[in-house]
Amino acid sequence: MIRLRFAPSPTGYLHVGGARTALFNWLYAKKNNGKFIIRIEDTDTQRSSKIFEKMILDSLKWLGLDWDEGPDIGGEYGPYRQSERLAIYKEYAEKLISEKKAYYAVYDANNNEIEKSYVFPKEYLKKEYSIVIKFLVQKKGKTSFRDLLKGRMEFDNQYFDDFIIIKSNGFPTYNFAVVIDDHLMNITHVFRGEDHLSNTPKQIMIYNSFNWELPVFMHIPLILGNDRTPLSKRHGGTSINYFKENGYLSEALLNYLAILGWSVDEEVFNVFEKINDFDPSKITNKSVIFDYKKLTWINGQHLRKKPIKKLSEEFKNFLNINNILLPQLNSDYFENVIQICREKVNTLKQLLEFSQPFFWDNYEYEEEYIKKFLLKPGAEKILKLAIDNFSKANNFSIQNIEKILRSIASDLNIGTKKVFQTIRGAVLGKLVTPGLFESIHILGKDKTLKRLQKTLF
Ligand code: GLU
Repeated sequence: MIRLRFAPSPTGYLHVGGARTALFNWLYAKKNNGKFIIRIEDTDTQRSSKIFEKMILDSLKWLGLDWDEGPDIGGEYGPYRQSERLAIYKEYAEKLISEKKAYYAVYDANNNEIEKSYVFPKEYLKKEYSIVIKFLVQKKGKTSFRDLLKGRMEFDNQYFDDFIIIKSNGFPTYNFAVVIDDHLMNITHVFRGEDHLSNTPKQIMIYNSFNWELPVFMHIPLILGNDRTPLSKRHGGTSINYFKENGYLSEALLNYLAILGWSVDEEVFNVFEKINDFDPSKITNKSVIFDYKKLTWINGQHLRKKPIKKLSEEFKNFLNINNILLPQLNSDYFENVIQICREKVNTLKQLLEFSQPFFWDNYEYEEEYIKKFLLKPGAEKILKLAIDNFSKANNFSIQNIEKILRSIASDLNIGTKKVFQTIRGAVLGKLVTPGLFESIHILGKDKTLKRLQKTLF
């Protein structure tokens, strides 16, 4: 059975790099009918928090990356939080000590190592000392493993010092806990960020000291910002929450993360339909640059393809998470607005900007509209004629609306642009909106007339 895991440390929000790592693990597990496991690596007691754990799990759920075992749902190999597995790490560390592959080290108050011992040095159980367990590195020889992307990796042991595996507070270090857990949880493949490559030889030494079989390793090149430094807040939003709050669709983000390193024929696709095409050997071995513009473009593609009912639901969720309360609206009206507005936007946030004058009657008039049209001679005449002709209209079809507006231009002997923009700004407040005739058609006769009146006075 193929088993992969995503093992976040709950010390911050889920970063796009972490999400991509989770995605590649998830894809490989799904493709092989294997299992995908979440393990929380909360051994850094200072920086870990349950709140971040919840945020990370929520972000994974939002992306649609479900798991078979994890801290919230349990499983055969639990517990799935490292802080709940301390007794296990202690047992394995003591086993190494009994085989003289690890030892107790005592540090004094100045952090100098003053004693090494294979028996627990209880005489140092005093405040001023700290006792840790260190792994004894065999200085002779080499440590090697095969990486799926990078091929054979070899490290000379002489460059490694003995390293701590259990800290003085009884918590394991990352390198130790990760090996014990990956082994006991029967993890077959470890896909993780390249930033861990320097840890891997230490982990291999631990595997070897227990005579355990190695999982398959793949270290994924990092995601960089446009200045080629690792993607961070300096470059823009990096957490999955950020993209959610800013109106990105989970399927678009997942799509972008998938092509960020994995080369597929198409650029825009539904990741859930591409599971069987996932091939780790097609992942690039070069670092990739996070391109916000590209992501936004991909988002627009998904936004326009999504069934309108689903998009409307998603848009309502987006308003909810941003604490924006919609007025009571008939659902056909709402969906029609979404339908015409989505043609010109890429994110739900832009969709909100674009669609809000359709939802709220107290829209504001853009300064540019006021300056260039509303305050110009003739504006009043245009508005009055529009009110007259629209009031008389029995047929409020798109075609008829167009006819009426064009006739105003010819009656007043002025350009259509002037008429259209004057009316556009009057009913929607802006000079850039979805198609004018369609917009007026969707607003309907009553609303249109009220808005024209309101603008006139
Ligand atoms: N807790 C580690 C991290 O968040 C996991 C690394 C690994 O997958 O081994 O980077």
